[in-house]
Amino acid sequence: MATSSVVTNKQQQAKRPVFKSKSRRTAVDAQPLPQKTLQSDTATERKNEEKRLALTDGARVVIWLNASHGTKSGQRVVSLRDELAALPKDWANHNRLAPLTHPGLGEGWRKDQRQLVQRHHALNELLSRYAFRPRYTFRVFTEESVFGLVPDDDRRWFTIEKGNETTSEADAVMSLLRLASTGDLSKIRRCEACRDRWVFAAKRNYRFCSADCRETFYAKAPDYHERKAKNQRAYRQKLKQANAKFIG
Ligand SMILES: [Zn+2]
Repeated sequence: MATSSVVTNKQQQAKRPVFKSKSRRTAVDAQPLPQKTLQSDTATERKNEEKRLALTDGARVVIWLNASHGTKSGQRVVSLRDELAALPKDWANHNRLAPLTHPGLGEGWRKDQRQLVQRHHALNELLSRYAFRPRYTFRVFTEESVFGLVPDDDRRWFTIEKGNETTSEADAVMSLLRLASTGDLSKIRRCEACRDRWVFAAKRNYRFCSADCRETFYAKAPDYHERKAKNQRAYRQKLKQANAKFIG
């Protein structure tokens, strides 16, 4: 009995993906992602403040992604963003096809399952590059104690320094994770015209990186001239009616 159980364990270990985490714990048993503490007193104000913070993360990621375009650092974060968005969707689709509800899926379904597990580990392996460490800073002049988490330095990371704020690859990833944790990741999108630059779609209708891209997009739309002419006609008609009323 004992022997067979050892064999089973060994087989299970052999199947296990190569990624070795430095911790046995999962995100279910973790400290929360670092987040700025909300300062407002009332619930409504806190809600607004939360929105502003989400905007800050979104704006930060988009500025970083657009600036790092074409670098390896930028490519790494883009693929992380895409996988963070795709993996939960693919898991959910996979679960919907569970063999219990769809008998006959068998081996193919299990193969997909193994691939999803691999992707899950691969994602965690990528994330494990971004180590943040607790940091204490005493501000001598204001006699103020400040606490925070700072990422390790890495010269391969694309980094933006603006005033007192540094955004490295690790900071961009942390912002992406915070957006993902609140369900806001899909707001970090590619511009619908150039498909190259990134947009933070704080509102659903934010689709383009610039006024130029918006114009290009609609100019290429097949019925653009037709719609424009129609709008013009409607506008002239309205004007006519308004004038008629005024005169009458
Ligand atoms: Zn664009």
